[in-house]
Amino acid sequence: FGNEEQKKKYLPPLAKGEKICAACYTEPQAGSDVAGIKTRADKDGDEYVINGTKMFITNGTIADYYIVLARTDPNPPKRHHGMSVFIVEKDMPGVQANKLKNKLGIRASDTAEVVFKNVRVPKENLIGQEGQGFYQTMMFFNVTRIPVAFQAVGLAQGAFELAYHYARNREVFERKLADFQVTQEKLAKMRTELEAARLLAYQAAFFQDKMGMPDPGLTAMAKYYTARVAQFIVHEALQIHGGYGFMGEQAISRFYRDARILEIYEGTREIELEVIGRSLLGKIPSRLGTVRKHPLM
Ligand SMILES: Cc1cc2nc3c(=O)[nH]c(=O)nc-3n(C[C@H](O)[C@H](O)[C@H](O)COP(=O)(O)OP(=O)(O)OC[C@H]3O[C@@H](n4cnc5c(N)ncnc54)[C@H](O)[C@@H]3O)c2cc1C
Repeated sequence: FGNEEQKKKYLPPLAKGEKICAACYTEPQAGSDVAGIKTRADKDGDEYVINGTKMFITNGTIADYYIVLARTDPNPPKRHHGMSVFIVEKDMPGVQANKLKNKLGIRASDTAEVVFKNVRVPKENLIGQEGQGFYQTMMFFNVTRIPVAFQAVGLAQGAFELAYHYARNREVFERKLADFQVTQEKLAKMRTELEAARLLAYQAAFFQDKMGMPDPGLTAMAKYYTARVAQFIVHEALQIHGGYGFMGEQAISRFYRDARILEIYEGTREIELEVIGRSLLGKIPSRLGTVRKHPLM
């Protein structure tokens, strides 16, 4: 939704890996309910003044720019109206990021609370049209759910590989663990689910490539299912590792912890189901909304 000037200024350094960006939507009281945000951006001459607190922001303490969703109309006719998106630079006075520690998983990823206190942003940093922020944000999540689905597939594949080789090497009852039928059944189910998850993620990505924009229902389905499969696979993979998996001495325990975020960020499992359900009923534009009437009806 950015204009050419914004794209030229901000995108090349990101693509080159010279700068880091963070996306600030969630607030302490508003996660799934994006329309519940309270951060304000009040117009003052040629500037907007931003005040508010954003929560759980990935790259929060290491970002050079923040994409910030804020209310530009404090009394909109509908609660999802009157929001806008801004580019805020880390050096602008009033920006403060506080690192959040002791996460269950994805500990290599930075997560922070980001506070904006009277941050003055030039009007040129408004992205797209004022008041369209909610719709822009929903579109953003439709796109980003596809890479998260592939994150789930990759994580599940890694866990499967660890479990497979562990089962082929570990000896129990004077035989290899993989020689027992129960283990083979576990590995077979894991591998089958993994391949099904991969195909659904490909389908969502293929649709986006083909149509030039994602299908929200299909994208939510891909993220929902791949994240479910990742939970199943890390669970079984840790089981195959026995006590060594639980004690954290094996890489699998990290996969187990990392998998949990897949059902929380970029839309929780429940929100994905809601998007799929609303798509089926035609309330969200999606190919899922076209269900043929069975000839026997
Ligand atoms: C490590 C990490 C990184 C993150 N990175 C970012 C980031 O970079 N930028 C950003 O803006 N946010 C980020 N988030 C925030 C993330 O998107 C939110 O945590 C998520 O959207 C859920 O919001 P919440 O935590 O407030 O939970 P809530 O919305 O309070 O939900 C709590 C529970 O209620 C369920 N629930 C909510 N509404 C309904 C409903 N209508 N029906 C049924 N169940 C419902 C939820 O599914 C969930 O299970 C990150 C979070 C984490 C943990």
